[in-house]
Amino acid sequence: MTTGFKYAILASGSTGNATYIETDKQKILVDAGLTAKKIEESLESIGRSASDIDSLLITHEHSDHIKGVGVLARRYHMNVYANELTWHKLLDDNMLGKIPPEQIRTFEMGKTLTFDDIDIESFGVSHDAVAPQFYRFMKDNKSFVILTDTGYVSDRMAGTIEDADAYIMEANHDIEMLRMGPYPFRTKQRILSDKGHLSNEDGAMAALTVIGNHTKRIFLGHRSQHNNIKELAHMTMETSLQQHDVDTHVVQIIDTSHVDSSPLYEI
Ligand SMILES: [Zn+2]
Ligand SMILES: [Zn+2]
Repeated sequence: MTTGFKYAILASGSTGNATYIETDKQKILVDAGLTAKKIEESLESIGRSASDIDSLLITHEHSDHIKGVGVLARRYHMNVYANELTWHKLLDDNMLGKIPPEQIRTFEMGKTLTFDDIDIESFGVSHDAVAPQFYRFMKDNKSFVILTDTGYVSDRMAGTIEDADAYIMEANHDIEMLRMGPYPFRTKQRILSDKGHLSNEDGAMAALTVIGNHTKRIFLGHRSQHNNIKELAHMTMETSLQQHDVDTHVVQIIDTSHVDSSPLYEI
């Protein structure tokens, strides 16, 4: 028996998102926003196999979170979890193809469910999907939070996710790059709105609100390919933490990639 758990960020970015979490008893995917083939390869790159996945948790119905869900679910017979409103949207609009009914599971917003030896709490975010929710994973007094795809971080959300050991924190865009960039005006407005995405500055502010004594790692997630630069996102987080006397040797800031998996981290 090992304490804690392991996780790897298979991909993070506006082009596709997937995170892997494992305990002795559960192998979990959060989102499958790349092709099934790409996710199989990412898992192989960390010495794992898609055939071992027990549960797939969906955050919301945007394609950068669900692209590979249908194929993976049919190929590997994993249970797929989302809240009821999201399931309605996914099934009514036939976004996944046919999913065997026994694999369709609900995970309502604000609930904590136990998956064998790990507890998972869902929390709502502010984003332009029907009922978007992200997750906090908790085992042996250690926790890991994924938070992307939100226009802002409410006090309530901050309370739910405070003092985790590790975070994927959204650093979607640099506001000036977005404003000057190629996107149509309406798309820019959407991204900047309360139901869009966190900018580098927003993500840094959110991190400052929630980090605590347990916090060791912050992964910069869901970075836009058009409206951000890895170094800029990193520097914004680093500068903000240092300005607030957070030791960035203790709290490590780690970039993510939209193509390559991270190593498997132990929490
Ligand atoms: Zn989204
Ligand atoms: Zn997204």
